[in-house]
Amino acid sequence: MNHENQKMESIQWERMLPQEFRAAFDRLPVVYLPLGTVEWHGEHNVIGLDSLKAHRLCVMAAQRSGGIVHPPLYGGMGGERMPATVRMEEEDNWDNYLLRPWLEKYCYEFQRLGFRSIIILTGHYSCNQQIVVKETAIRMTERLCIPVLGVPEFMLAQDVGYSGDHAGIGETSLMMHLHPEYVRMDRILSDPQYGKDDRIINGASAERGEKYTETIVERLSKLAVIMPLWDGRTIADFVQAERALLNAQVKGWRNTGSRNTAWQRMAHGEHNGYGRMLVEERFDELKSMAEKLL
Ligand SMILES: [Zn+2]
Repeated sequence: MNHENQKMESIQWERMLPQEFRAAFDRLPVVYLPLGTVEWHGEHNVIGLDSLKAHRLCVMAAQRSGGIVHPPLYGGMGGERMPATVRMEEEDNWDNYLLRPWLEKYCYEFQRLGFRSIIILTGHYSCNQQIVVKETAIRMTERLCIPVLGVPEFMLAQDVGYSGDHAGIGETSLMMHLHPEYVRMDRILSDPQYGKDDRIINGASAERGEKYTETIVERLSKLAVIMPLWDGRTIADFVQAERALLNAQVKGWRNTGSRNTAWQRMAHGEHNGYGRMLVEERFDELKSMAEKLL
């Protein structure tokens, strides 16, 4: 086993010996929980893309600044109605009997084990998935009195050009950098949806993926270090900002009928500063940005 592999395995929960776990926990008692699902991602991408991507990003962040990465969850809300997609719960339905209690239980367990903050990174971002993840994180922050961040990875990289897609230029680029062995660009030509023009072939690249990755990993690793230091006042400000964002999204659904109104407005133009504001703890600004989203 080479040194790089050793380093990587020593922060992955399921691959640690107890002494490695204790050492990592003592260094930084922060846990990353990557979320994804199994879902069709075109002929050019592997089916487990979302979990693989989120897990790799968390591992890279933990390698940089510490923390322990829990195994990824495969299972979420929505997913393209295509072969090989498992839809645990519906995209358009408020009912949520699986993901929410599952996340709550994880948070309780992590807090019981002594972790001082929790980062839930979802690589799958149907609208309801994003809402349930963020809503649960906010509620668990208040309930457990430790900061819990629930965020899709693209929201940490909107200001460098990634606004979240599905097997498109962004996700494919991320995979070309994170897991090149799982991308087969030549196969896209046989895909009537993703290969109907050369947009993805020309637009996706490992360089683009590296740029997004660098921003996301840098911000995650910074958050892992600062979140356990937040006092009660800071946690309350964080909750207010996150709740404002959640409200904007839910309200957008109600007011405009579009499930992605707030997210889309963040992606385009002046509202793309979420990731930067979060790591700089500019929660008042984040809150006022969220209030302007509708
Ligand atoms: Zn995806």
